Amino acid sequence: MDMSGAVTAADARYPDVVRGLNPRYVANPEAVYLVDSAAEVAEVVQQAVDGRKRLTVRSGGHCLEDFVFNPDVQVVLDLSEMNQVYFDAERGAVAVEPGATLIEIYELMATAWGVTIPAGSFSSVGAGGHVAGGGYGFLSRAHGMAVDHLHAVEVVVVDARGMVATVVATREEDDPNRDLWWAHTGGGGGNFGVVTRYWFRSPDAVGNEPRAILPRPPGDLLISNVSFPWSELTRQGFTRLLKNFGAFHERHKAPDSPYLAVTGGLDLTHPSGGPIVLRTQVDGDHPDAERLLQDYLAEILEGVESGSPPRPRRTPWPEPVRRHATTNETQNDPTLRGDFKSALMRANLPDHQIDAFYRYLTRTDIDNPTIAVSFAGFGGRINAVGQNATAFPHRDCSMALLWTVLWDDPADDATYINWNREFYAAVYAETGGVPVPNAVTDGCYVNDADSDVADARFNKSSAPWHELYYKDNYPRLRQVKAKWDPRNFFRHGLSVQLP
Ligand SMILES: Cc1cc2nc3c(=O)[nH]c(=O)nc-3n(C[C@H](O)[C@H](O)[C@H](O)COP(=O)(O)OP(=O)(O)OC[C@H]3O[C@@H](n4cnc5c(N)ncnc54)[C@H](O)[C@@H]3O)c2cc1C
Repeated sequence: MDMSGAVTAADARYPDVVRGLNPRYVANPEAVYLVDSAAEVAEVVQQAVDGRKRLTVRSGGHCLEDFVFNPDVQVVLDLSEMNQVYFDAERGAVAVEPGATLIEIYELMATAWGVTIPAGSFSSVGAGGHVAGGGYGFLSRAHGMAVDHLHAVEVVVVDARGMVATVVATREEDDPNRDLWWAHTGGGGGNFGVVTRYWFRSPDAVGNEPRAILPRPPGDLLISNVSFPWSELTRQGFTRLLKNFGAFHERHKAPDSPYLAVTGGLDLTHPSGGPIVLRTQVDGDHPDAERLLQDYLAEILEGVESGSPPRPRRTPWPEPVRRHATTNETQNDPTLRGDFKSALMRANLPDHQIDAFYRYLTRTDIDNPTIAVSFAGFGGRINAVGQNATAFPHRDCSMALLWTVLWDDPADDATYINWNREFYAAVYAETGGVPVPNAVTDGCYVNDADSDVADARFNKSSAPWHELYYKDNYPRLRQVKAKWDPRNFFRHGLSVQLP
């Protein structure tokens, strides 16, 4: 290939391309290749195979672990310049390159054809890793996971002899490569090959008009943020708020819920970080949008002594996604290191879990305004798909939880990593420190990767890490791995193992 795309240590761009969003993870590779076509990807991969080099792939750079940038990596393939989004008339599907960010996808799809995909809510996440792991966000209760609309995927793979090939795998039942498509519907990035293109078209789409093949985004959104200052919240009020939120989402997790247009979020903070916030977004085109919002808020606020809803505001789609990242100073601070953990819930929070949330969030021996556990309303149309139909297995859930803590000084790494570990262990104390798949919890989300769940010091349950992420889809993922990456060329700290 034209080597101008190779960035080595002598290049001024080097420090910027050997790390992603999280400055905890920095690599020291021989070269980072900024490629702009599948052919270039194939060329770099073949060179790395021939030279026995350890290669990793970056698209949006939002990996929550060190899977891309770590001390072992010798070659990084950087796909951030492969960011086109266009209609492919031949396939009757919208093609999305892996470096396209979520806001680029939403804006282009909305302006060009008035369509969208139900993917994540953070604007700068890249399609490359995000889609392979499932992808959910503000519109998922109404339209499912991003992968529920994935029609095909183009992947650069390496065979047993070390020969590189570029293959297309589709959802079509008679496609001999269908298992490779399936593995990209929740199997996670960095496992099977390099995705150079995704194509989106809903399974029930008719015809070849780009306007008609994917969900229509809301014209506008009804937004409501209710704050609960810690000074006004008793332990009883806190418990009631969590119980109400959990009860609503358990009751409305079915795909035929009358509340599919409502997406609720509850951001639990530490008192050093300001009030707890109940964030709600309703599809403003729904004829009963106002009533749905009022009924929802009445139910969540019932018996909670704090929190008065301000007048809801209307804003066009995808403004909340744009703002979510761009107006949030903390989220945009490139010096902040981060640690994250996730959990999926099938039922409401048991009392002992709520007690652990309260105990940890009211601790006065820690002072960090970024400490948060975000609860996202889940289910709805996500649960219209079978547990094995895609590799994403969490098809009976009501809520998705994400633990976050950010800090800037590397000297504080141990303090905050341990904080998250102890907090999480306390919430799941009754199930070995992790949210094992059972009637209440349903494991973890592969896109919110957390290597601790594969470490016996932190996962004391009988559920191995792959059961938390994939449940009973893991054996099939291993078969796909054996067929499409038999040399285990694509691997990372939590990658799918060869059988
Ligand atoms: C601030 C923030 C907000 C988030 N919000 C959401 C959200 O709302 N909803 C949600 O579902 N998730 C969310 N996530 C999680 C996000 O989906 C994952 O981190 C995702 O893997 C990021 O993809 P990326 O391409 O940006 O990251 P990268 O770091 O580039 O890649 C992540 C992983 O995928 C692999 N990979 C990347 N590109 C390719 C490719 N082309 N082919 C094969 N493997 C590849 C990498 O090697 C790595 O293992 C969020 C993450 C962050 C940091």
